[in-house]
Amino acid sequence: MSKPVYNFCAGPAMLPKEVMATAQQEFVNWNQQGCSVMEISHRSQDYLDVAYQAERDLRELMNIPDDYAVLFMHGGGRGQFASVPLNLLPENRVADYILTGSWSKSALTEAQRFGDVNIAAETYKKDGLGSVLPFEQWQLSKNAAYVHYCPNETVDGIEFDYIPETDKPLIADMSSCILSKEIDVSKFGLIYAGAQKNIGPSGLAIVIVRKDLIGKARAQTPSIFDYSVQLNSESMFNTPPTYAWYLAGLVFKWLKQQGGVKAIEQRNKEKAALLYQFIDNNAFYQNRVETRYRSKMNVPFYLKDENLNTAFLQDSKAQGLLALKGHRSVGGMRASIYNAMPLEGVQALVDFMQDFANKNG
Ligand code: PMP
Repeated sequence: MSKPVYNFCAGPAMLPKEVMATAQQEFVNWNQQGCSVMEISHRSQDYLDVAYQAERDLRELMNIPDDYAVLFMHGGGRGQFASVPLNLLPENRVADYILTGSWSKSALTEAQRFGDVNIAAETYKKDGLGSVLPFEQWQLSKNAAYVHYCPNETVDGIEFDYIPETDKPLIADMSSCILSKEIDVSKFGLIYAGAQKNIGPSGLAIVIVRKDLIGKARAQTPSIFDYSVQLNSESMFNTPPTYAWYLAGLVFKWLKQQGGVKAIEQRNKEKAALLYQFIDNNAFYQNRVETRYRSKMNVPFYLKDENLNTAFLQDSKAQGLLALKGHRSVGGMRASIYNAMPLEGVQALVDFMQDFANKNG
């Protein structure tokens, strides 16, 4: 048997093997219909059953309260960088943005196109390591329409270990950490996530929003990005990304079979601990994030001798360990170890890294 391949891409990322096998099996003959689920009307009862079931499963997995809407939208994570201010930032108000890395910065840049935005916290390093400015030092506005932050920075590998307490609606870009650990949804005004890490194919965005925040979109908001239009049309104002929605539903089912978010959180902790412990105990490699804020989903690391980067990437690929190159803005390496990555994949990576260090150290 050939060696298993493990894909560490940050997104689009690997999906559970079982989900891919089901999708393959059903690809041309879904539900005994003689055609694919992607070829049927989104308004047919058969498709609506798929769509509603996916929403029910997500609600169950995340324990989403009834006063929150779940929307399946177009435009991925960046679509929400615009949708959030268009829907939630009135023209005479200000929004607070917390900067912790490249994605929160991009969210801020997009929001600045639409209104008054306050940088309540800048990106921050502690003793040269990536970190989060202590909450007490945040300069939050008195009258903010909302506070936006990114609980897990995919590029920088920085993850919050707490939910900020604020009396304003808290908006979270959970693109790279949704469903990876238990969270109390009621602490948020709105959660959004591009699907291509822990949910399904890219293009789809999931929005979980407290219903009382909906209905105040600016007049010029494109209808497909208007939360009230999407809520009133059950996310089918136009043709939704039906195949991505179906695959998301398969992933939710898979996650329930794994024991739900609590069980996957435990596995994610074990995977991250294995990799960080190895890095910390091996002088050949280095992670540059304060321990407390290290991401359990995206593990950036550097080789002490960066001249070996190309060899590391070539050799790892030859071993079936794919996509370990760090984001072009920060260099180095990055292992994304989302829900679908099994512990064996992380173990294979650690074994390879040990071997590579032995050979080149
Ligand atoms: N936010 C975060 C945290 C991300 O990691 C990404 C994509 N990697 C985005 C937003 C942008 O998502 P998309 O490419 O779907 O627009």
